[in-house]
Amino acid sequence: MLPAEVMQQAQAEFINWQNSGSSVMEISHRSKPFIEVAAAAEQDLRDLLAIPDNYKVLFLQGGGRGQFASVPLNIASPEQYSLHLQTGSWSKGAVSEAAKYTHTHVVAKDTVNADNKRIIPDIADWDLPEDILGNTAFLHYCPNETVDGVALHTPPKLPNVELVADMSSNILSAPINIADYGVIYAGAQKNIGPSGLAVVIVREDLLGKAQAQTPSFINFTLAAEHDSMYNTPPTYSWYLAGLVFKWLKAQGGVSAIHAKNLEKAQLLYSCIDELDFYHNNVAAEFRSIMNVPFTLANPELDAQFLAEAEATGLHALKGHRSVGGMRASIYNAMPLAGVEALVKFMREFAAAQD
Ligand SMILES: *Cc1c(COP(=O)(O)O)cnc(C)c1O
Repeated sequence: MLPAEVMQQAQAEFINWQNSGSSVMEISHRSKPFIEVAAAAEQDLRDLLAIPDNYKVLFLQGGGRGQFASVPLNIASPEQYSLHLQTGSWSKGAVSEAAKYTHTHVVAKDTVNADNKRIIPDIADWDLPEDILGNTAFLHYCPNETVDGVALHTPPKLPNVELVADMSSNILSAPINIADYGVIYAGAQKNIGPSGLAVVIVREDLLGKAQAQTPSFINFTLAAEHDSMYNTPPTYSWYLAGLVFKWLKAQGGVSAIHAKNLEKAQLLYSCIDELDFYHNNVAAEFRSIMNVPFTLANPELDAQFLAEAEATGLHALKGHRSVGGMRASIYNAMPLAGVEALVKFMREFAAAQD
């Protein structure tokens, strides 16, 4: 979901942008007006996340998954290791892609506690062989597993190891300390804007390390040198991302949206926990505030649940095809009223089956 105000503004200026007589997507990415759009979007993102000056912000192509390859190609040599905390399907996907370009080592996988709830093992329990640690380029993790609804709310820090985070589904949902990370990346389509665009935040001293065969259009250093315009960037997505950043600033910024996100998630999880009719399998500490997966006690009612939800105007609740069940994605743009409507429906649906 994108903010309604942003969609309305984009619609209003679609054909005649800023009285130019053309659409923003028809003007050259090298024209002064577009360069202003691009620079404003970057500055607004820098303001929202308090990005220090020694980090570059890149607007690239290839979404989130593209970075699974771009990150190892750009900051690791084939002889080095990338370490991986594997907590769900996205961080798992990053391992197999990185393995094409570096050695990989999985330090830990998500597991279950005594109550059969999913948890992420503590760093003290990770597998960290000395010889691998001495030859490691970075540790990769996914703070918010979009499909699984498993989240790590504090960054895992290993001494002298660069931290890389796939924030595709949680960027801008809560304040973060950029300095904890070497690279942060996010496919745009969850909290930023249209799909296809990827935002990469990379500390400057990690540039210049790309493997020789790295395709130029995904080379972070070239992108940084050319203000993300080495090749033509996805201009319309960049423009729309800029509108979303302005909208977020008007909402009071990341801390303010975080408070709203917590309220939305709390409301939904308490409904699930209260009724035996619904179930979420993640331990409270590791629950996502963006993606809330849940199952019905009687899966035979899944299809009826989804059909009645759809008829009530509650869309896109079907769980990811790999896990089934239901999933409510409650990204920044989802208003509290949307979650209230879902909870009301869930309570009524459960009561009607008694
Ligand atoms: C959606 C998502 C991706 C994949 O993004 P694409 O743009 O489809 O490549 C990667 N990681 C996470 C955490 C995601 O949520």
